[in-house]
Amino acid sequence: MLRPQLLDPIPELHEAARLLDEAVTAHLVGDRDRADNLIRAADLPVIAQWTESLWGPGGPWSRPRPVADPLPYLPAGQRSRQRMPGKAVLRQLVERDGFHCRFCGIPVIRAEVRARIRAAYPEALRWGDRNVEQHAAFQALWLTYDHLVPHARGGTNDPENVVIACQPCNCGRANLTLEEAGLADPREREPVRSKWDGLERFRV
Ligand SMILES: [Zn+2]
Repeated sequence: MLRPQLLDPIPELHEAARLLDEAVTAHLVGDRDRADNLIRAADLPVIAQWTESLWGPGGPWSRPRPVADPLPYLPAGQRSRQRMPGKAVLRQLVERDGFHCRFCGIPVIRAEVRARIRAAYPEALRWGDRNVEQHAAFQALWLTYDHLVPHARGGTNDPENVVIACQPCNCGRANLTLEEAGLADPREREPVRSKWDGLERFRV
């Protein structure tokens, strides 16, 4: 039985997105204190636990399903030379898929937008090199570009092979194929559309 996502999203992910959306609204009307507090309120430990269960030890990536004729792992020299699509294709992917994970459907935020908010609220939006030093909601709601046939297995940067995914769905599958991960093909479902704008309206 194929599933749409590796792990069901928890309600707190949506709650955090709502708080961050309110934070941006507060910021845009000049209420910096309120924006700061809301960003901090979205940094929920239960979200970090959810994320860790996907990409941490024992996560789905470490438990491939046995499949007949698995795609081989290619040596680095035989993989698509460009690791990620160029900017024009990334823009096209965002236009096509919007600001929700194509697997679990949670709202997502581009790294560039996170960086702009962080520059304005460096204390509230904590972001270090280690996972535990990163704001739990910005970490889980991180918009990434996920290769359906993994790059390491010969996947290309053709837009047909790449979807918008949250960072936990992307890293939770790592280099497994959809079949090995027991996932349904997200291209067979419509992308989620909502009022969520990925916080793109944030301006300093
Ligand atoms: Zn996801």
